[in-house]
Amino acid sequence: MIKVKRAGGTGEGRGGGAERGGAEGGPVRGRVPWAAGGHQARVWGGDRPEWSTVNEPRAKIVIIGGGPGGYEAALVAAQLGSHVTVVDSDGLGGACVLTDCVPSKTLIATSGMMAALDGAPALGIRPDTGAGGAALATVDAPRLYSRVRDLASAQSADVAARLAAEGVEIRRGPGRLAGPHTVAVGDTELDADIVLVATGAKPRELPGAVPDGERLLTCRQLYDLGELPPKLIVVGSGVTGAEFASAYQALGSKVTLVSSRDRVLPQQDADAAMVVQEVFRRRGMTVLSRSRAVSACRTGDGVTVTLEDGRTVRGSHCLLTVGMVPNTGGLGLEAAGIALDRGGFIPVDRVSRTSAANVYAAGDCTGVMMLASVAAMQGRIAMWHALGEAVQPLRLSHVAMTVFTEPEIAMVGVSQQAVGSGEADALVVKLPLATNARAKMQGFRDGFVKLFARRSSGMVLGGVVVAPWASELILGVSLAVEQHLTVDEIAHTFAVYPSLSGSVTEAARQLMQPADDD
Ligand SMILES: Cc1cc2nc3c(=O)[nH]c(=O)nc-3n(C[C@H](O)[C@H](O)[C@H](O)COP(=O)(O)OP(=O)(O)OC[C@H]3O[C@@H](n4cnc5c(N)ncnc54)[C@H](O)[C@@H]3O)c2cc1C
Repeated sequence: MIKVKRAGGTGEGRGGGAERGGAEGGPVRGRVPWAAGGHQARVWGGDRPEWSTVNEPRAKIVIIGGGPGGYEAALVAAQLGSHVTVVDSDGLGGACVLTDCVPSKTLIATSGMMAALDGAPALGIRPDTGAGGAALATVDAPRLYSRVRDLASAQSADVAARLAAEGVEIRRGPGRLAGPHTVAVGDTELDADIVLVATGAKPRELPGAVPDGERLLTCRQLYDLGELPPKLIVVGSGVTGAEFASAYQALGSKVTLVSSRDRVLPQQDADAAMVVQEVFRRRGMTVLSRSRAVSACRTGDGVTVTLEDGRTVRGSHCLLTVGMVPNTGGLGLEAAGIALDRGGFIPVDRVSRTSAANVYAAGDCTGVMMLASVAAMQGRIAMWHALGEAVQPLRLSHVAMTVFTEPEIAMVGVSQQAVGSGEADALVVKLPLATNARAKMQGFRDGFVKLFARRSSGMVLGGVVVAPWASELILGVSLAVEQHLTVDEIAHTFAVYPSLSGSVTEAARQLMQPADDD
């Protein structure tokens, strides 16, 4: 059956009848008449919609950058019948797939297995002291790194194949804006009705610690090492630093974590960060708090990191994780009328518009929240908005995120800090994992489930889970936040017995308040 639907119509479809592209006033500012509504019929044949060319040509979309911000946008635009070109310089999937999320989480799959083996004796597994000594297992570093690289390239190939199957044109090479409606790739100029800039970010370097790719490393240079660093110094205790420190400690490196702040993960829930820091120390990691690194250099066959107070730390390798800077230089943005902020990021609104009509931006280059899921959502929202679909503007307060340490920290919604400062009027319950029956059986003792609920209505406002696989457990809390569920509704939901997720329903039960008698 063929269904004909008018663009800019009733508000049905994605976004649940929230804000519409035309209503936001976005694309109407440029020369994109299809978004103004009513001009064009969208024809649904099978499950693949197409824009007809009755009144207007297909929208020409050019996307610079093939990471999640770019490729997810391309899929949406292609689904809506646009002619889409993705220009990418380093490989589809972007840094997310090739150097950042996918490789790091693949490495962490192995380190997680090693950490689990650490707890094996307590579960009745004895090391085999026969031929190989007392270790339960050791890491085969070349094999691990080649698995990481193979998986990343396979994932990149999958993204390329998916885009090609959807009819997206792919151009290899650096692209730049030669005007608001033109993207230049080498000598070729591509015409665009809409441009999306999704060029990502790269690791920040310290002036006194320039990476050499051999011993002084950024997080993108780890996978070419032939070996595990025997003594790794990690500079920076944010999410990236903490994840790699945790992973290499479990893989068998001797790790020193240099943190300029009072504790690791200064931006995250303080209770959660303290659990992770305690686990780090218990497992033998040296955590140097209130220790700012000012330089790092090669010395002999190792490295020396110098701290602000003059102390030095020696290791075999140093990993620098001191933030990210946007890839916005040389893109012709200013000439195309796009303002940058002081950090070089592209300011965008909640539907991904930049200061130039018809140019949108998504992902790390906007600095909004450096997560693949946020980049992807910003990219999709940009296309829905530009092409006149119903859109729900980006809601950062509903973003679920995870720190993939051992144990993991996952969180969504309001923070403890917002509750503590009175910004959110919420009741809080925190259940230690050690009280959960399944956790006891599994030998998990570090972690907790914390739930925040609005004092007046019992509506779930957020939560923090610290546990193995917290990244999977947070979904229940995330659903509650997104769907405005109350603690009563969660409390009446069945959880499996025994299960870690049982702690989420138990926390909700503890937050239930007796009804008023009068
Ligand atoms: C170590 C590490 C681990 C991470 N783990 C996670 C995680 O587990 N979960 C999570 O949600 N987030 C994670 N992140 C963050 C995540 O990687 C980023 O938020 C995400 O990659 C942003 O996507 P993007 O599309 O904006 O940019 P990118 O993925 O960086 O892609 C941008 C693409 O644009 C290309 N490009 C740049 N300039 C040009 C140009 N001029 N012309 C053409 N192409 C260009 C680049 O080559 C790249 O391919 C991690 C980050 C790091 C550093």
